[in-house]
Amino acid sequence: MNTGVITAKAGFEHRIPPAHAEQPARLQSVLDALNAPDLAALPRIDAPRADRAALERVHTEAHVDRIFASEPDDDTLVGLDWDTFMTKGSLEAALRAAGAGMAAVDSVLSGEFDAAFCAIRPPGHHAERARPMGFCLFNNIAIAAMHALETHGLSRVAIVDIDVHHGNGSQELAEREPRVFFASIHESPLYPGTGMAGETGLDGNVVNVPVGAGLSGPGWRAAIEREITPALRAFAPDLILVSAGFDAHADDPLAGLQLQEADFAWAAAHLAALAGEIGHKRLVCLMEGGYDLPALGRSAAAFVQSLAEA
Ligand SMILES: [Zn+2]
Repeated sequence: MNTGVITAKAGFEHRIPPAHAEQPARLQSVLDALNAPDLAALPRIDAPRADRAALERVHTEAHVDRIFASEPDDDTLVGLDWDTFMTKGSLEAALRAAGAGMAAVDSVLSGEFDAAFCAIRPPGHHAERARPMGFCLFNNIAIAAMHALETHGLSRVAIVDIDVHHGNGSQELAEREPRVFFASIHESPLYPGTGMAGETGLDGNVVNVPVGAGLSGPGWRAAIEREITPALRAFAPDLILVSAGFDAHADDPLAGLQLQEADFAWAAAHLAALAGEIGHKRLVCLMEGGYDLPALGRSAAAFVQSLAEA
């Protein structure tokens, strides 16, 4: 697939201290890996800022006001909850991370790219309608999904979340928006504690596949094929968006799944094939978690390489 990379240097200005897992070096690790010889030639786009109207398709006005008002104007660290912080520069990073997903939707729906990968931080899938959560300020992928529906007039979009954590914020969107399908495979029990198989949304537009710690690639792939693929095929979305977290990697310090880079490459190829089967062959992928820096870079590169070869 003709694949583009969308990123924002502002992601480095969300200066969470190195002791925190969600640190600026994560973005550097991914961008360095995407500069490998096979990938450096892929076109790059600088992410624009999301505007308030786009944010408020997902979030309450009060939530957006809170994020705009919480950024410090000095070097203090402002805690929004026990592990979600803002520093000077965080707002710009968050607006560009959300804007990256929207630009990715624009570029794929215009035909400029078949697939787009957003190398961004902060991540988004835990951010709920009315609160920041789990390192996430705005829900980037939910904002991209609503942009595709409302601005481009699509009828149905799907979000497939392969981050090791459940995307509670994205699920919350599907629970009030029948045009959105949300499927997640995630370790359970694990933060944030949601995503049980019995959470099925509106007439089955939510599919949760909780899996136990220790699961490795073959079992993970089989679970996706068994539980997510048929439901995604049946929903027949006009666009597939992917919450591409890489923290299910065996080396990741925050979780206990045992995936390798090849499993993320498989996921990209599998979702690209499904998109082709549904009839449009387009994928919009947004970076979420991944906290072992070398594994994160290698996994993101394997994922993007697989998109480009699909
Ligand atoms: Zn995660």
